[in-house]
Amino acid sequence: MADAVSMDKIVSLCRRRGFVFPSSEIYGGLGSSYDYGHYGVLLKDNVKQRWLSAMVQERDDIVALDSSIILHPQVWEASGHVSGFTDPLVDCRFCKKRFRADHLDESECGQRPSKHPGETDNCDLTEARQFNLMFETRVGALEETGVPVYLRPETAQGIFINFKNVAQIARRKPPFGIAQVGKSFRNEITPGNFIFRTLEFEQMEMEFFVPPTDAEEWYGYWVQERYDWHRRYGIRESHLRIRPHEADELSHYSRGTSDIEYLFPIGWSELEGVANRGDFDLTAHTQSSGTKLEWVEQDGSRYTPHVIEPALGVNRSMLAFLVDAYDEEVVADRDRTVLRLHPQLAPVKAAVLPLIAKDEGMVAKARALYEELRVVVSAEYDDGGQIGRRYRRQDEIGTPWALTVDEQTLEDDTVTIRDRDSLVQERISIARAREHVLDRLQQPWSTPKPD
Ligand code: ATP
Repeated sequence: MADAVSMDKIVSLCRRRGFVFPSSEIYGGLGSSYDYGHYGVLLKDNVKQRWLSAMVQERDDIVALDSSIILHPQVWEASGHVSGFTDPLVDCRFCKKRFRADHLDESECGQRPSKHPGETDNCDLTEARQFNLMFETRVGALEETGVPVYLRPETAQGIFINFKNVAQIARRKPPFGIAQVGKSFRNEITPGNFIFRTLEFEQMEMEFFVPPTDAEEWYGYWVQERYDWHRRYGIRESHLRIRPHEADELSHYSRGTSDIEYLFPIGWSELEGVANRGDFDLTAHTQSSGTKLEWVEQDGSRYTPHVIEPALGVNRSMLAFLVDAYDEEVVADRDRTVLRLHPQLAPVKAAVLPLIAKDEGMVAKARALYEELRVVVSAEYDDGGQIGRRYRRQDEIGTPWALTVDEQTLEDDTVTIRDRDSLVQERISIARAREHVLDRLQQPWSTPKPD
């Protein structure tokens, strides 16, 4: 069963409010590529911050890394990406379109979009051929002499090749992890379903190095930790599930993988993957580079750590949060669209609104409050249009609190604070407003949407 929220509604809200735009639009667009506007950048940054906080700041066994996008080409030979990071593709000799052989029943025929490729009499599909997903480019000034290199298709390999640096310099001992957030690139052929699958995207990956005998236990631990993280930031239980891979689905490096799936408008799909990669990567890079990537105990005994990897796409995570937060309701005979985002994810935490934009007294108080708030949280000042319309605008971008300066403020220095979800309005003193917002931001939150 697909979610009641359609992808079209999400796409249209994202465009209307400047979260996400189709990329290169004035040139007709580029498939599976998107640009992020102001609120999209703020939301995406908050997703990354919450992930980094859970991975690095709130723990003492994981450190951060930022490795290069372009790595030595041998990295991708050793990792198996040059030979094996492929999708099977078929071409249709009739309509000239290209499809993923394993996604035919999700693709549209080039002539009859209501049918799948291969379903009409005219369809003439070739045999499947393997197509490598890595983008290739060259380092060096000259086309002829430049060295061919790849844009990384995942951030993980940059972590493995730095294992020795981090273990020595950060003085970590297994079990310990290295976390990285950064861009990855894949020449995806299947059309994208908005930001679910794009040519370039950001990944949040963490490689957790453990003694081999403890790998199974840590694998189970990380599947649960990551599931809990999505729940902590508001994803409804009914829309989240863990799906262990069947043996024939496992990647070449994996001893066990579980997808954390979300019920997207396109149906249940992978949100995050958690894999037990064994010693595949450290062994492969040791053999290929000649540098021993292993752990040496104080008594001189040595072993190659096993690796547990949770890997999540920032953009896919942002899409899941948007879908889960999207809500429509009728309040006092008027439609309201609201993003019920966790306050810590919301692009703007507090909006400050002078009730009458032409009233100098109200404007002065509202500007002063806004300037005080914006030092500590992302805040917005809005004096454009009717107050009701201003509330609606903030609801649509998910702002949890709107503080309104009105006549009474001029008498007693209090403002109303309106809660996005309950619509309850309380009066608080201006002097306490900053503390009030900061307090509420730290309180646990769960969505009022039915599970
Ligand atoms: P899929 O089966 O959807 O192609 P995958 O199994 O190839 O994904 P991984 O290599 O495990 O994906 O990547 C880890 C995570 O990175 C995925 O769970 C997803 O959140 C994200 N991701 C992967 N490819 C893309 C993409 N093209 N666009 C956006 N996010 C992506």
